[in-house]
Amino acid sequence: MSTPTNSAQFSSSNVDPAELAKFSELAHRWWDTESEFKPLHQINPLRLAWIQTLAPLAGKKVVDIGCGGGILSDAMARQGAEVLGADLAVKSLKVAQLHALEAGTQGVQYREISAEDLAQEQAGQYDVVTCMEMLEHVPDPSSVVKACSALVKPGGWVFFSTLNRNPKSFLFAVVGAEYILNLLPKGTHEYARMIKPSELADWVRANGLNVMHMKGMTYNPFTRHYALGTDTDVNYLMATQKPLNN
Ligand code: SAH
Repeated sequence: MSTPTNSAQFSSSNVDPAELAKFSELAHRWWDTESEFKPLHQINPLRLAWIQTLAPLAGKKVVDIGCGGGILSDAMARQGAEVLGADLAVKSLKVAQLHALEAGTQGVQYREISAEDLAQEQAGQYDVVTCMEMLEHVPDPSSVVKACSALVKPGGWVFFSTLNRNPKSFLFAVVGAEYILNLLPKGTHEYARMIKPSELADWVRANGLNVMHMKGMTYNPFTRHYALGTDTDVNYLMATQKPLNN
């Protein structure tokens, strides 16, 4: 991995420093499965399995945009992919790298770089791009979608997941998760930044990707289990593909 620096200067302006600070503050708890990151640990096997069914990961070159502490990056590397995890929160990257060392995960590297800058450097080099639970934390998510599209090879897959924006998602993802069930720290998600599937689909198509599949992710507070299904009202995943002859 390239050594993360403490630079607060980003050549990309598509960053909200307050968002990065929120994640940096919690960074030491990324791999504590009972911490604020418990929901990500719980949904990880579900999203990994879905990615695998559409784009089997063994031997693939993958970039994970907004990788955080590497929960998904690490799991994809363990499926035999060669993974680059990219984020702008340096502390999270250090935790991710340390975890890979401790867990002996092969084939994963981490870098402090924006999606936009990486796209300039490595356009068309990835079989699979993942960008999970990240778009709702950036000022201009369409610019990240554009960068993800630039990073993927023709025929390759780009997977997004984010939070829908409607009264139900406000109630479940903000009021329920942050204020009633305490699944997430208060202030984790800002309503105005949440993204409707139609908006994400528009950005996807405008950047030369096709929407192939969608899944909703639901949480049952009684069983405390997450499931993938057809209800995209709150949390959803979108699988997109770059056409071969683009
Ligand atoms: N994708 C991971 C982590 C999601 S948390 C997972 O699903 O397990 C959101 C992540 O987005 C945090 O790690 C945060 O540091 C990162 N992030 C926020 N703004 C970013 C930006 N502009 N560029 C890159 N990463 C960003």
